[in-house]
Amino acid sequence: MSKQQPTVGVISLGCPKATVDTERILTQLRTEGYQLTNSYEDADTVIVNTCGFIDSAVQESLDTIGEALAENGKVIVTGCLGAKSDVITQVHPKVLAVSGPAAYAEVVQAVHDVIAPPKHNPFIDLVPPQGIKLTPKHYAYLKISEGCNHRCTFCIIPSMRGDLVSRPVSDVLAEAKRLKEAGVRELLVVSQDTAAYGVDVKYKTEFAEGRPTKTSMVGLSEALGELGGVGEFWVRLHYVYPYPNVEEVIPLMAQGKILPYLDMPLQHANPRVLKAMKRPGNVDKTLERIKKWREQVPNLTIRSTFIVGFPGETEDEFQDLLDFLEAAQLDRVGCFQYSPVDGATANEIAEPVPDDVKQDRWERFMETQQRISANKMQAKVGQIMQVLVDEIDEQGAIARSMADAPEIDGLVFIEDGFHLQPGEFVTVEIVAADEYDLWAKPIAEFTESKDTSFIELG
Ligand code: SF4
Repeated sequence: MSKQQPTVGVISLGCPKATVDTERILTQLRTEGYQLTNSYEDADTVIVNTCGFIDSAVQESLDTIGEALAENGKVIVTGCLGAKSDVITQVHPKVLAVSGPAAYAEVVQAVHDVIAPPKHNPFIDLVPPQGIKLTPKHYAYLKISEGCNHRCTFCIIPSMRGDLVSRPVSDVLAEAKRLKEAGVRELLVVSQDTAAYGVDVKYKTEFAEGRPTKTSMVGLSEALGELGGVGEFWVRLHYVYPYPNVEEVIPLMAQGKILPYLDMPLQHANPRVLKAMKRPGNVDKTLERIKKWREQVPNLTIRSTFIVGFPGETEDEFQDLLDFLEAAQLDRVGCFQYSPVDGATANEIAEPVPDDVKQDRWERFMETQQRISANKMQAKVGQIMQVLVDEIDEQGAIARSMADAPEIDGLVFIEDGFHLQPGEFVTVEIVAADEYDLWAKPIAEFTESKDTSFIELG
């Protein structure tokens, strides 16, 4: 790499929201004429975007900072763990600057302090209109808000990222349009709390992309659905809490405007534990709602995450969670053993669950869900569905169905799919399944039909 231009290395840790922060920082630096590198040696300085959500993430962040200091020496730290700067500077006093999440201007200024931006900027036109993306060309995260108004007792995100601040809906839609024009086929809508989008601006209506649009999850989903709809352009909603307004996005899924997929972190199913977590706790209503949504959208995929071993969780309360899993028959489920996060109010609750009990509950949870998942996946064998190709390897094509978000859900392996291209929609027949993944054969090139009745019937 030529060293005529100042060059910045970046390491991005953590969740998709942090990835979007990194993309914004890189876009700004590239616009100013900085070169980007993934080598410590070529970099004039290295930015580490940290995660501070759980203890293991804190440790990974601190280790990464240590490695960057050892290999390069000029390290700028940002992101969630940066909100607790003393944690970083106590371990790594030589870092050059520390800032919290979404602190784009501070990071860029810290880079300027290490190495000034080039005066003449011949690279400005090399920044694509959609900005710098860290995801493959055919999918992108679309961040719609910062922060969160909840105060879940196990979580310190609000203390790091602050209360909910929604991006103007006109900005969000303009970005979505730019991404589509740049070749993105799937948008992953992310935030801390997608169903609460717009609550801070009282759901104000803005003129966006030529028409009045409400700053709300429903208004945004309607507008994103106009960008093509399932069959041409996938829109996937993440971090949707079970508020009543979810009812209003279900018809958009039934009409094929957005993907029939809800990522809904429920965390537990026992009312007392949910109360101790400060989460909305009417489990019967959640079950009722799930049933109603599935009547409207039979191929709806519901993904959720849960915590076992929360302080004070009894065996009976854990059993309620297993009963809920059996009743809800969720499609995709993640489970974490409770781990105390420095600064979380749940640490003040007495009665920690012993580690061996947590492990035992986690294993029983996973056994239950694996059985449910295996049955659900087996029911897909023989179905015909639309998939999106992610990559080609020596075995064939690796794709995802509408039920699979990148990184967190399953894959669809397409035998003999060597002729396919990443970013291509293909119609396949499912020929085999295990608990998480599917195997398929292509049956025809996908036509631009929006008739979702022939797409993923399960
Ligand atoms: S909803 Fe709860 S878990 Fe999610 S970011 Fe807000 S406080 Fe944290």
